[in-house]
Amino acid sequence: MDILYIVVPCYNEEEVLHETSKRLEKKLNQLIGQNQISKNSKVLFVDDGSKDKTWQIITELHEQNQIFSGLKLSCNKGHQNALLAGLMTAKDLSDVTISLDADLQDDIEVIDQFIEKYKQGCDIVYGVRSARDTDTFFKKTTARGFYKLMEIMGVSIQKDHADYRLMSKRALQGLEQFDEVNLFLRGIVKLIGYKSDVVYYKRSSRFAGESKYPLKKMLNFACDGITSFSVKPIRLVTALGFIIFVVSLIMLIYFFIIKLLGRTETGWTSLVGSIWLLSGIQLLSLGIIGEYIGKIYKEVKSRPRYIIEQIIDENSDKE
Ligand code: UDP
Ligand code: MG
Repeated sequence: MDILYIVVPCYNEEEVLHETSKRLEKKLNQLIGQNQISKNSKVLFVDDGSKDKTWQIITELHEQNQIFSGLKLSCNKGHQNALLAGLMTAKDLSDVTISLDADLQDDIEVIDQFIEKYKQGCDIVYGVRSARDTDTFFKKTTARGFYKLMEIMGVSIQKDHADYRLMSKRALQGLEQFDEVNLFLRGIVKLIGYKSDVVYYKRSSRFAGESKYPLKKMLNFACDGITSFSVKPIRLVTALGFIIFVVSLIMLIYFFIIKLLGRTETGWTSLVGSIWLLSGIQLLSLGIIGEYIGKIYKEVKSRPRYIIEQIIDENSDKE
């Protein structure tokens, strides 16, 4: 029977932890009772350097019931890093994980469907929101803009999927091979490969406490997502440089013609001519340098070039 770990990053979540743990315990016990998962399955709370009683509550929960375990980060490292810490810890202790926010905005009743898809052979199951009616107008429009921008930038991500997701042990082993420091999990998970599927659910509002994702963090997150996956902004500079360079050549011819016609002041032609030509050359050079920086950027990430799913060879140790 497979061991399931539910990984929950928590930052200043004292207001929700009691209720969240109660609901998750019920869910896990139900799944264990139905023989869907091993009785060694657990909820792993990751304390992301909280300043309130979060860690104290986690340790109390653990003392009361071993179904709860905890992981404490040395200081606040942000949602994505806390989640990764939890997943990497759970990877060695379990067969399959589900990541979930502490506020239970994501409907835990669809966990059954996650497990079902996993049993059908999926290594990654994305929880996808069926509607955004609980979002404010602002969040809705910014989210839409974000997905559009990612699409233009050529980054493949699952639409309307927060980090509510099932990942198998081998999917996590794949994730482990991505060494990059700027972490945008939603983009990376897509690169791991393996069979995946989606499960639709309705996202409710936070039942207590307030959002730990203010606008500034959201913008940072979006910016990280784009710059971690795309060198298109650099391409844009190169393209712009090229266009201005070509235009400058045309302008030079034009300036020369009106000079020949004698319709200019002395010195004007060489002045405007050099402004155009020089800015064109400068932008183009910047773009070319940018291209190399883009290459270096991709190299330093040292992403895995491939992840092997299976090998059939009698001499190999792998199954
Ligand atoms: N979180 C975290 N570290 C942070 C910020 C948030 O671990 O620095 C956790 C938080 O406790 C919650 C999840 O990330 O479990 C999502 O945060 P929140 O619900 O506040 O975001 P929202 O749902 O408003 O986007
Ligand atoms: Mg939330």
